[in-house]
Order: sequence, then structure tokens, then C-alpha cells
Amino acid sequence: MNKTSLTQYIKEAVAAAGFDACGTAPVAPLTAETAQLRQWLADGRHAGMTYMERYTDRRENPALLLDGARSVVVMLYSYKPPATQPPDAPKIAYYAYGRDYHDVIRHKLKTVIASVAAACPEVRLRGFVDSAPVLEKAWAVRAGLGWIGKNCLLVSPRFGSFTFIAELLVTAELDYNTPTAASRCGSCRRCLDACPGGALDAYRIDANRCISYHNKRKGNNGIDIGRYCFGCDCCQLACPWNFAAPTHRHAGWTIPEIVRFSAADWQGLDEAAFNRIFAQSALRETGFSKLQSNWNTCLGKQPSTSRRCPGN
Ligand code: SF4
Ligand code: SF4
Repeated sequence: MNKTSLTQYIKEAVAAAGFDACGTAPVAPLTAETAQLRQWLADGRHAGMTYMERYTDRRENPALLLDGARSVVVMLYSYKPPATQPPDAPKIAYYAYGRDYHDVIRHKLKTVIASVAAACPEVRLRGFVDSAPVLEKAWAVRAGLGWIGKNCLLVSPRFGSFTFIAELLVTAELDYNTPTAASRCGSCRRCLDACPGGALDAYRIDANRCISYHNKRKGNNGIDIGRYCFGCDCCQLACPWNFAAPTHRHAGWTIPEIVRFSAADWQGLDEAAFNRIFAQSALRETGFSKLQSNWNTCLGKQPSTSRRCPGN
């Protein structure tokens, strides 16, 4: 298969697996991006995420993750929900409305890899979804899928920022997309203004002040989680690129109770029922005790018009 046919084949396999967008980029060192990462780490903005300190060489050069890698295929899987939680429920970030995306996307990557391997046995591929030191947002920019917004998330002009990002390293040369030239945030600063914790400085995040970092981890860290029981979407709900983005079309992904449970349902939920209902959810990682403590905190608060976050 020549490179154009292989590129086409991979993109069709990616679409058939259910991804919403796909772009390609040549493997090359992410020198500037890694320098930014090193500065962010030196500033201590990664809070307790010490794993971010490791393998910066691999983050800079993905060829270290797959011998002979020549191309990066980047895929987006949108998750903006068609239905949201009742207004009185303790809030859960949209990305956790469904089955754990690591499991869902890992399965899709395996499907794509098997398809390409069957068609082109000489091509080697390796897939990633948050599972290795890969600077996925930087690769998405290089693959022309969007820009990194002031909220530090990938913003797709079509799907906004409610997307999961996955990557494939490929040992073959492919046809490549044009990288995104620049941020299209312009003078907008809605995400910065909406962040309850003041965690965002344009294009930099301080995890020490981010609700989404703290409400999923054990212990009482003194951060006001507002009405967010798990994660936080304030900086995304404020983003105009998300207003017009389509809702996802992934039937069966959403866990029905997430969009059905009222405040009373959460209050009455015991550990056995939690473990059964959310067995396939990212919520299970945080565990019942911490989440119960969070939702009891959240349920003590009325939806406030004074908070800046449109979802809090
Ligand atoms: S997730 Fe919430 S707390 Fe964290 S940066 Fe975004 S708005 Fe701020
Ligand atoms: S809210 Fe505005 S500044 Fe923030 S990511 Fe969206 S467009 Fe960019």
C-alpha cells in the first residue's frame, strides 16, 4: 500500500471504530512543548502529579515509545452529552457521564490496530490513551485538529473541547494534515473568568487550585469544590466553541443513572449499589467514601447565581 492509500485506510478504520475526527503528523521532537512542560513542573503547578516529572524524554520524542515510529495519528472522541443531570444533583464532569473512556478507547484502538495490521503486516502501530507519556494536545495541534485554548485544553473548531484524545504511533510514513497555525481564542477570557479556583492563567493551569484535580483524590485539601462532586467543567461550559459543538452520537456510552439521579437518589445511594451501578465508570477510581463525602458537601449548597461558573 502506498502512503496515500495507507493514510486513507487508517482514517477509514478510525472512523469505523467510532472516532469523530482524525489527523496525522510526522514524528518530530516536541522541543518547545517539552520546554514549557519543564517550566510548568519547575513552577510546581502539577501539584501531586509526580508522574508528570518522569519520562520527559519520551514526551519530547515519541520515537522512544515505538522503535521506527514515523507518524502520529491523532483521534478525537467527542463526549458533549445530549442530556445533562437534574439541576439539584451533585455535579459530575461530562467526561465521566459514561463508561471509563480509557477502557472504551483502548478497545477502539485495538480494533484499528488489528485492521491495519491485517491489511499491512509490515507496518507496526502502538496506541495510547492517557497510558503513556505522550503530549496528546500538542500532537492534536500538529495534526490540525485544533488549538490549545487558554483553558489548557484542546479546542476543536468543530467539536469544542469536550473530546477525548487518543494517539497511534505508526512506523510508516503517511500523508499529513496541516498543523493548526495559532490559537483562535483571541481576546476571549471566559474560561479564566469562570474558573472558581482561579487556577487558570492564560495557557497555563495550576493544578494546586483546580477543583478537578482535588475532588477526585483522597483527603480533605481545603479546596472549595462548589457543587462539583467529581471533576469540574466550568472552564469548558464557559467556552463559546462548546456552545455550538454537536452532542455526541455514541449510543450506549452514557451510564443512565448519571443523568437520571436527583439529589435524593444520590443521598440514598449505598456502597453496594454504587459499586454495581458505576462498575464501569471512572467514578470507581475515586471510590464510594470520597465521593459520598463530596456529594454530601455539594448537596448542602444551592445552585448559586453568584458563582462565576455557569455550571456550578
Ligand atoms: S476544571 Fe474547574 S477548577 Fe480546574 S481549571 Fe477548569 S474551571 Fe478551573
Ligand atoms: S473560553 Fe475563550 S479563551 Fe477560553 S478556551 Fe474558550 S475561546 Fe479560548
